Amino acid sequence: DVDVALAGRSYRVKVGPGLLERVHADAHSFIEPYGKRAVPVVADANAKRLHGERLQASFRSAGHSIDWYEVAPGESSKSWDELVRLTDWLLDRGVTRSDHVFALGGGVVGDLVGFACAILKRGCGFVQLPTTLLAQVDSSVGGKTAINAPAGKNLIGAFHQPSLVLADTTCLATLPQREMRAGLAEVFKYGILGDADFLARVDSESSAILACDDATLESVIAHCVGMKARVVAEDERETKDARALLNLGHTFGHALEAETGFSDRLLHGEAVALGMVLAARYSARRELISLADAERVADALARAGLPTEISALGLDCDGSTLAHHMRNDKKAEASTVPFILLRAIGEAFVARDVELADVAAFMDEQL
Ligand code: NAD
Ligand code: ZN
Repeated sequence: DVDVALAGRSYRVKVGPGLLERVHADAHSFIEPYGKRAVPVVADANAKRLHGERLQASFRSAGHSIDWYEVAPGESSKSWDELVRLTDWLLDRGVTRSDHVFALGGGVVGDLVGFACAILKRGCGFVQLPTTLLAQVDSSVGGKTAINAPAGKNLIGAFHQPSLVLADTTCLATLPQREMRAGLAEVFKYGILGDADFLARVDSESSAILACDDATLESVIAHCVGMKARVVAEDERETKDARALLNLGHTFGHALEAETGFSDRLLHGEAVALGMVLAARYSARRELISLADAERVADALARAGLPTEISALGLDCDGSTLAHHMRNDKKAEASTVPFILLRAIGEAFVARDVELADVAAFMDEQL
C-alpha cells in the first residue's frame, strides 16, 4: 500500500489482485453512511460488464446495493453533456458533501467522476476503482480531474483528491493488449524521468507485465504509484517543477494526438511513447544526452511493442503545424514552451528556453 500524504490529510492507494471482491472491507467507512440507500457507482460500460459483478457481490455481502450509472466508453464521455447528466443524476439521488461516489473504469471515468465530485455541492468525496493500467499507475492518483473543451483536452477541471484508490490488478486481465501497452508507456515514463534502474527492470519485465503476471503487476504498479505519491506530496498543484516532470513526452505527444484528432488512430499512451522518444532525441540534438542514450530509450519502448517512429504515422502535416499544437497546449507561454528534457536517462528537468521554431525544424527531420 502507498499513502499519498498531503498537507492536512492523506489517502491510501491499495494495489493487488481481488480488491474488487473485498471493496467493502477497505471502503466500509465510505459505504456504511449510505445505510439502506443504494450506493452510487459510476462505471465505464466495459468495466461494468466485465467486473461489475465482483463489485456488486462485495456490496451485497455487506448488505448494500448499488445504483449504477453507466458511462459510454471513450474520450467523448469527458464532455459537458455527460457532466450535466451525471451531476443531475447524483443530485437526484440526494448525494451530499459527506457522501462518497465510486468510480469504476479507466482514466475517462476517473477524470469525469472526479470533476463531478469536485463541483457537486462544492465538493463531495469519491473513491477510485481504476480498471486500466494507465489509470492504476497514473490517472487515479494525484487529484487532477477534468473534462474536455472544444478548445482542447482537459481544459475544464479541478484539483480534487480521492479519499481512497483501490487498484485491482485482476481487472487488467480483460484489458485489450493495445490498451495494456499504452498503459505500459506511462510505466516506462517513471523510469525514464527519474529512475534508470526501474527503467531497466520494466524493460526486462515488459512481457510479464503484458501477460498480466500478478506478482509483477502488483510490484511494478505499486512502484509507479509510490513515485507519483512522492511527487504529488511535494507539488500537489504543479506550482513547482516536481509534478511537471510527470509530463515527460506529453507536449510532443499531445501535438500528435491533436493532429490525429484524439482518435483510436493513436492512443494517449502510444502518443506518450512517441513523445518520450522525441524528447530524448531532442535532448540529444541539444547535446544534453548522447544520441546512443536517446536510442536506448527508443529501443526499450520498441521492445515492448510501442511505436517509436512518427514517420510511421503517415501524418499529413509539417513540423510547424505540430509546434503550433504545442503552443496551444495548456502549458504554453509566448514563443518558448516549457519542455521536459533529459540530462541523463532517469534524470528529467524542465527546460524553459526551448524555441518553438527550433522544435519545428527538429520535427521536420523526424516526420
Ligand atoms: P479509458 O478510460 O478510455 O479506457 C480505455 C478503454 O478500456 C475503454 O474502451 C474502456 O471501456 C476499456 N476498459 C476499461 N477497463 C477495462 C477492463 N478492465 N477490461 C477491458 N476493457 C476495459 O482510457 P485510459 O487509458 O484508462 O484513460 C485515458 C484518460 O485518462 C484520458 O482522458 C486522459 O486525459 C486521462 N488521464 C488523466 C490523468 C490524470 O492525472 N487525471 C493522467 C493521465 C491520463
Ligand atoms: Zn499521460
